[in-house]
Amino acid sequence: MKCPLCGHLDDKVIESRQNISGTSLRRRRECLSCGYRFTSYERIEEIPLMVIKADARREPFDIKKIERGLTRALEKRPVSQVEIEEMLNQLEDEAAMEGKANHEIHSKQLGDLVMKKLAGIDKVAYVRFASVYKRFETVDAFVREIEKLT
Ligand SMILES: [Zn+2]
Repeated sequence: MKCPLCGHLDDKVIESRQNISGTSLRRRRECLSCGYRFTSYERIEEIPLMVIKADARREPFDIKKIERGLTRALEKRPVSQVEIEEMLNQLEDEAAMEGKANHEIHSKQLGDLVMKKLAGIDKVAYVRFASVYKRFETVDAFVREIEKLT
């Protein structure tokens, strides 16, 4: 795979991991040219897990979107890359489990899974994430959310 940092095409696979339902494969890779480590995702199954959004539109489940959200929420927080990877592994499995019956999951269920995970790891990141994903309708709702943490 092409190294996202230097563009070199050769890498070695450090770790491979299939999710619980066998629908995707995550590979941790290291570039043979510059040593940069990155992750690739390969979908195995034909039927993708679909995410049903609040407006009822559907889109394919994309762990990278969750990764972006997590990374933003965890900016400058004392949480390691290894912990983030582990969270993503678990979230991918949990989403697949919840959506197993119909190959679909509501975006709210997905957001709840992420928030549950963050609540156990870092409270600040949890509030950051919640404020974006829940789009608090009122200040009260936001305060209630924070109070639940203490
Ligand atoms: Zn490279």
